[in-house]
Amino acid sequence: MAKLPIGDGHVLVENGVVSALEAFRQREPSDREAGGILLGYRRGPHVHVTGFTPPFPADRRTRRSFDRKVEGHAEVAHRQWRASDEQIDYLGEWHSHPESDARPSSVDLREWSKLLRDRNSPLVFLILGSRNDWLGVGTSGSIDRLVPYAAGKERIDLEIPNDAT
Ligand SMILES: [Zn+2]
Repeated sequence: MAKLPIGDGHVLVENGVVSALEAFRQREPSDREAGGILLGYRRGPHVHVTGFTPPFPADRRTRRSFDRKVEGHAEVAHRQWRASDEQIDYLGEWHSHPESDARPSSVDLREWSKLLRDRNSPLVFLILGSRNDWLGVGTSGSIDRLVPYAAGKERIDLEIPNDAT
């Protein structure tokens, strides 16, 4: 089993990001899934999410699926990377689910594994549930959920367990 290369690290999601993501939580039966990429900094073993992209018109969205396209997301990521002296990086993916306790689907796990292939740095994956989110960290060897937490947090700061496998 592969160890995460970032033991003792934290995943930190800034207050502004958490509150802005609230708008995309699926509360009504008519709400479609939303998603985008997570942007921010890697500092040693820490992953610091300071921004995200919202859904763009090219994305395919239904109540139970979200298929992110490159258009829009790539431009925002590139602009932030340039504006930050090449410090703000692609950190992972987020999307919403129409379920109270968010869990990755088999499609999610398959897509994430594809993104992790041939990557040296870990990625963060966030799914917004209507009540409980799912936040995990993936490496080329595994994808592990961090401590579960309820929606409505102001700021997310979770420890990445040293022995995550
Ligand atoms: Zn999903």
